[in-house]
Amino acid sequence: MISLVNSPEYAQHQTGSHPENQDRLDAIMNYLQKEGELENIDLIQPIPAQEEDLLRVHSPEHLNHLKVFTENGGGYLDFDTYASPQSYEIGKLAAGGAINAAELVFNQYDFSYSLARPPGHHATHDKAMGFCLINNLAVALKYMQEKYGLGKFLIVDFDAHYGNGTAEIFYHDPQVLYISIHQDPHTIFPGKGFVEETGAGEGEGFNLNIPVPPGSGTSDYIYLLERILEPVCRKFKADFYFLDVGFDGHMEDPLSRLQLDDDFYPWIACYMQKLTSEMVLILEGGYSLDAMARSNLKMLKVLKDKSTHEEEWRPPELLVRDENKNTLKNIQETFSPFFTF
Ligand SMILES: [Zn+2]
Repeated sequence: MISLVNSPEYAQHQTGSHPENQDRLDAIMNYLQKEGELENIDLIQPIPAQEEDLLRVHSPEHLNHLKVFTENGGGYLDFDTYASPQSYEIGKLAAGGAINAAELVFNQYDFSYSLARPPGHHATHDKAMGFCLINNLAVALKYMQEKYGLGKFLIVDFDAHYGNGTAEIFYHDPQVLYISIHQDPHTIFPGKGFVEETGAGEGEGFNLNIPVPPGSGTSDYIYLLERILEPVCRKFKADFYFLDVGFDGHMEDPLSRLQLDDDFYPWIACYMQKLTSEMVLILEGGYSLDAMARSNLKMLKVLKDKSTHEEEWRPPELLVRDENKNTLKNIQETFSPFFTF
């Protein structure tokens, strides 16, 4: 069973012609509706997160700044992160949607997908950035830790950008394994997310970055993820899984120079189902409306069918760039004290 957590209220985070705008969610929902894909998916209205839920992740100063800034009319928080008068309240709704999705999976559903905005994975403990105000996934994870006492969490983030906020929030935490595949940070925001950023203190070895050069596509992603995800997930043995989904790595997306095609998204959804039968999906980026709509449809179809037939979406032969083969070796060496590949 699968549920979709979404609200028309997200439109009240008004960003005008900014690439992160309500047209993104509308494009996905309208296409799912048109194709009849919402049948047998339970639509759930999110409930806003409480202040105490946000405070497990963010500093009081950060939350207060967002509150006062939006009450005073909003505007640009930095060069690319926008907030409108209602954005703080809608941010709480997006974080609440992530909590709701996590609880739905814990109690009842195989998969639950929080289709919300603003996105969250760049928001750090004390800063909004990269279109993100509140770190939705981190708020949900900490809620599940506290309310249900769950031990180990695994996050797989395939947004085109490194989720620096999520990574930093859990950087010292050995109970949270964050794995991110993203465009080489030398060439894209936020300029972090290199293999050498492995976590710190007790959390060393639990932040695994897979940077890929511009031009990398579905073959490169499959080559790397097949060799890394399974052994790492089997060894880590998470109690709870988050798939942090971004669609900005698609070849039609204007914000990255990656070359993923539509089939990557059902592939990763099938592949993850070989590792876990339950998973929470949290939407991050994706700025080509058509590509997002198509890719979401394909991804949801395989989740609904509980399909583990990833081979249906895998190119018969993987054409892999040499740089990515070298990155795999680098990751295997760097993580050899922690994981055996
Ligand atoms: Zn992104």
